Amino acid sequence: METLLVTGGAGFIGANFVLQAVADGLRVVNLDKLTYAGNLDTLASLEGSDRHVFVQGDIGDRALVAQLLAEHRPQAIVNFAAESHVDRSIDGPAAFVETNVVGTLGLLECTRDYWRGLEGDARDGFRFLHVSTDEVYGSLGAEGKFTETTPYAPNSPYSASKAASDHLVRAFHHTYGLPTLTTNCSNNYGPYQFPEKLIPLVIQKALAGEPLPVYGDGLNVRDWLYVGDHCSAIRRVLEGGRVGETYNVGGNAERENLTVVKTICALLDARRPLADGRPRESLITFVKDRPGHDRRYAIDAGKLQRELGWSPTQTFESGMAHTVDWYLTHQPWVQRVLDGSYRMERLGS
Ligand code: NAD
Repeated sequence: METLLVTGGAGFIGANFVLQAVADGLRVVNLDKLTYAGNLDTLASLEGSDRHVFVQGDIGDRALVAQLLAEHRPQAIVNFAAESHVDRSIDGPAAFVETNVVGTLGLLECTRDYWRGLEGDARDGFRFLHVSTDEVYGSLGAEGKFTETTPYAPNSPYSASKAASDHLVRAFHHTYGLPTLTTNCSNNYGPYQFPEKLIPLVIQKALAGEPLPVYGDGLNVRDWLYVGDHCSAIRRVLEGGRVGETYNVGGNAERENLTVVKTICALLDARRPLADGRPRESLITFVKDRPGHDRRYAIDAGKLQRELGWSPTQTFESGMAHTVDWYLTHQPWVQRVLDGSYRMERLGS
């Protein structure tokens, strides 16, 4: 049975990935620091599974990482662990450098030393996959899309720290020969996303009939990808990607933020109308723009399609409908995040 070391596997994308991998018969050692973004509730269905080992810890803790590698002998590492919220990076960039840059460096050094000790097929087949973002490429005008050769031009402390980690991964391949892969993906949405991010935040506020905050004029454009499709892309790259390469991952679903919010309003109005019959679009409230807010991201995922035959299974419309339905049927999960009780068990209170 193949063993993966997954970092950040209690966060939004990492947990979706872990659930999928374990369901597919892989064994996962899940290293997560359990910051505010880590949520063991999401992994509750894996309790008692002999294919999932959870370890609370920091990717920058070299002794711990070395011990986990020696003990579990993984065939691959998938690095999701990161500070991931742009607004938080504006308020406090240091934590982003600490985990995304210094932490990734520690993980890379331990991985290199472990990989050097492998022999034969184990060494040839080993992979380190680093999960990154399209935000490293900066902002686009009205035309064009990011490709794997677009120069890096990060604009937020978050994207700058992710860009630095991507460069370290690249350098570890070129300098030490470490068999790395990097994926740069557009905005994800779907089940288990922390309700500080646009889509779950708007769903919760719209359900409650509260004002729906939209930055600036609402016309910033993002490409949206359903999280399950991101996870399948990562698996595809892990299995067939060319060592040392980067692969862009996208949903071919560019939407203005305002359109995203209006889509949620329409889906909720159809499923659970407000008691006073008001259309939820009337709750939209424009708020002061985020400093340095990138105008447009769009991603060309053609390389992944051509080389590895991957394309998303969900359209924006089907993925959003599925996501809204998931939040409607998983309110206890959301409420435990909102009232903080999702953190209590692990604090022993
Ligand atoms: P998230 O914030 O939901 O989860 C991050 C996880 O990492 C949490 O469980 C947290 O506890 C853990 N973590 C943080 N610091 C750690 C450390 N020092 N050691 C170990 N664990 C630590 O993030 P996400 O949205 O799931 O994103 C996962 C990865 O995908 C990130 O690297 C992010 O940059 C990248 N990404 C995210 C998106 C998106 O739209 N969310 C898009 C493209 C790429």
